[in-house]
Amino acid sequence: MNNQNHNPHEVNLLDMRRELDQAQDAGGEGNAPLPLAKVGSNPVPLVMFDYRAVSVPVHHLKSAQYRGFLRCSGTGCILCAAQYGRWTKVVFPVYNPLTIRVELLAVDDQRDPGSALAQILEILGNDPAEMVLLLMRQVNFNFAIMEKKMPSSMRPDQQVIDHFKAERERGLDLASIYPQMDNEQLMNVPEIAMLLELGNE
Ligand SMILES: [Zn+2]
Repeated sequence: MNNQNHNPHEVNLLDMRRELDQAQDAGGEGNAPLPLAKVGSNPVPLVMFDYRAVSVPVHHLKSAQYRGFLRCSGTGCILCAAQYGRWTKVVFPVYNPLTIRVELLAVDDQRDPGSALAQILEILGNDPAEMVLLLMRQVNFNFAIMEKKMPSSMRPDQQVIDHFKAERERGLDLASIYPQMDNEQLMNVPEIAMLLELGNE
């Protein structure tokens, strides 16, 4: 950076990028009231205790200014207008016995055999009150998910669960793990403005 850094838009972009990076790097913690469950190549135990998920349309940005998922704003969304790819994420709460907190698990809304969602749907019991222990890890670009018998040491802390349920009753929106930006902010990203221009001709 040099002394030419007067442009207010440039400042806005950097601020926005930092916010987005934080949201992405922290797995959503920058914007969300709950952290995103991080599942890497090592197995992570996660307890499903609430079968009420939210379905969230998102776009993925990978420009110099932005990186990560953004919520699609629906009608009038300029990312849709610029023909950015649109996915649906299914987000639901899980209890992580390692961190002793409720986290959000987000998977693609793809139900073909072997997909994360298909595996989870297969494991779920019929009783919504039943808690199910999943052992998840990432294999290549997909997840390997197993059901495990729950040892007492991994049973959710009831206080933590009750706290989450109370928050949800008060209107906690699970979709907020994905940042939403208004069209004016998005138009400040040169790539988006250019693609939009192409789309309009
Ligand atoms: Zn959109």
